[in-house]
Amino acid sequence: MKSVGFIGWRGIVGSVLLQRMIKKNDFNKIKVTFFTTSQFNKYFPLNIKNINKTLHNAYDIEQLLLLDIIITCQGSEYTNKIYYKLRQKGWQGYWLDAASNLRTDDNTIIVLDPVNLDLIKEKIDIGIKTFVGGNCTVSLMLMALGGLFKKNLIDWIFVSTYQAISGAGAKYIKELLLQTNFLHENITDIIHSNKFNILEVEKIITLLLNNKEFPQQYSTIPLVNNVIPWIDKQINNGQTKEEWKGQFETNKILNNKNIIPIDGICVRVPTLRAHSQSFMVKLNKDLSIKNIEDIIQSHNKWVKIIPNDYIYTTKYLTPCAVNRTLNIPVGRIKKLNIEKNCFSMFTVGDQLLWGAAEPLRRMLKLLI
Ligand code: NAP
Repeated sequence: MKSVGFIGWRGIVGSVLLQRMIKKNDFNKIKVTFFTTSQFNKYFPLNIKNINKTLHNAYDIEQLLLLDIIITCQGSEYTNKIYYKLRQKGWQGYWLDAASNLRTDDNTIIVLDPVNLDLIKEKIDIGIKTFVGGNCTVSLMLMALGGLFKKNLIDWIFVSTYQAISGAGAKYIKELLLQTNFLHENITDIIHSNKFNILEVEKIITLLLNNKEFPQQYSTIPLVNNVIPWIDKQINNGQTKEEWKGQFETNKILNNKNIIPIDGICVRVPTLRAHSQSFMVKLNKDLSIKNIEDIIQSHNKWVKIIPNDYIYTTKYLTPCAVNRTLNIPVGRIKKLNIEKNCFSMFTVGDQLLWGAAEPLRRMLKLLI
């Protein structure tokens, strides 16, 4: 039985991974040790059969060296501190990571097995030991468009994302909820009064958003009643880092020698969990809508074509419809007036499952 160290199980990605592993009975197949960077004198809080509840120090290099596999959802800072020290000491174990900093390293593979299982197996065989989960929107896009990529039908992609607040981490979810609550507390009487006037309420909300009591510990602008067309830091070509990842990570996952151009605008919206994305895709041939749908549908069992009508779209193609599921609905597929080989498409996916925890869980399963 492989000995596995689990770091970052308390965070938002780690706790989704933990839930999935419990649900799929993965802990029966490994000898797991839970680590912490802060809860040293505490015990692992859940009851899982046959696990040792003592929490170990995640900075204890000697203890980490004893492990066959380390799976971490702790974040880039932890990875930077520990990963290179372990490798310098000759540690030969497998390192599985949710953080982004090792994705650009030549000796790592970005894992998304429904899309790149053959590549993963090939790299395991030649001794690659570091496997990293991909960016959430990239993984969700590949789950949706995998069939078209596999058949080499894509010339380029432009994407506009609608990314949930969970992508920014637990503290931003809390801030959004505190902001919502602040507005609610201050307008409840007005909403329920007989003198309700929508323009008056809107004016009050605008004033509240600028009130110095408005909860804003982490965000510099309101998260509620807002969309923010900027995610992550600026890079020197006008893109944000999040937008840059689209082309880099997609082509790395697909192991492409000829780079497929991908660009777009990444936008934070005040939904909680699932990400949405709107695409313009240029194909290298003129395929019918039926053809495009068949190719997309046949790629994996999670992708679901949603008919391009109001009822199906509003029922199945929204964040509320996919939260906490592995479904990847794909809809609004239509040819564009702009160019005959271009089509539009909208997709939604749970960014904590296929976007973060699930590819890592499946990679761990592959190794054990
Ligand atoms: P997070 O929720 O901020 O958790 C990270 C760590 O913070 C936890 O493991 C925990 O470590 C510590 N922590 C401190 N106070 C906590 C509290 N009150 N509740 C829970 N944990 C607390 O981080 P994350 O969003 O899961 O991201 C982890 C990594 O995955 C990052 O590198 C991120 O970039 C990457 N990632 C995130 C997403 C996403 O959607 N959020 C998607 C893909 C990849 P200790 O137990 O050791 O204190």
